[in-house]
Amino acid sequence: MKKVNLKKNDQVQVLTGRNRGARGRVLRVMADQGKAIVEHVNMIKRHTKPNPGKNIQGGIVEREASIHASNVQLVCPECGTQTRVGHKILGDGRKVRICRKCEGVVDK
Ligand SMILES: [Zn+2]
Repeated sequence: MKKVNLKKNDQVQVLTGRNRGARGRVLRVMADQGKAIVEHVNMIKRHTKPNPGKNIQGGIVEREASIHASNVQLVCPECGTQTRVGHKILGDGRKVRICRKCEGVVDK
């Protein structure tokens, strides 16, 4: 199984599909499925039933569907480009992800 190098709140860029080139924030990572949900990416329409008890109006709502983690790439917070992810052990023993392009630390 391929490891997912993404984390919640990461900024990512979409590599394939109809949202190709779009950037968004990772809302959720499903590591066991190798998938992630990215804000405003891969929107699908869902028909919902009204539920007055929960104050939910019925109708069509748009929400994000998961996309495969291999279809997105991390956007480095330091240099702002999409990059592959490397790893590095810091002086204090923390393992962090780094940008392969600028060597900047992705995890603060
Ligand atoms: Zn970078």
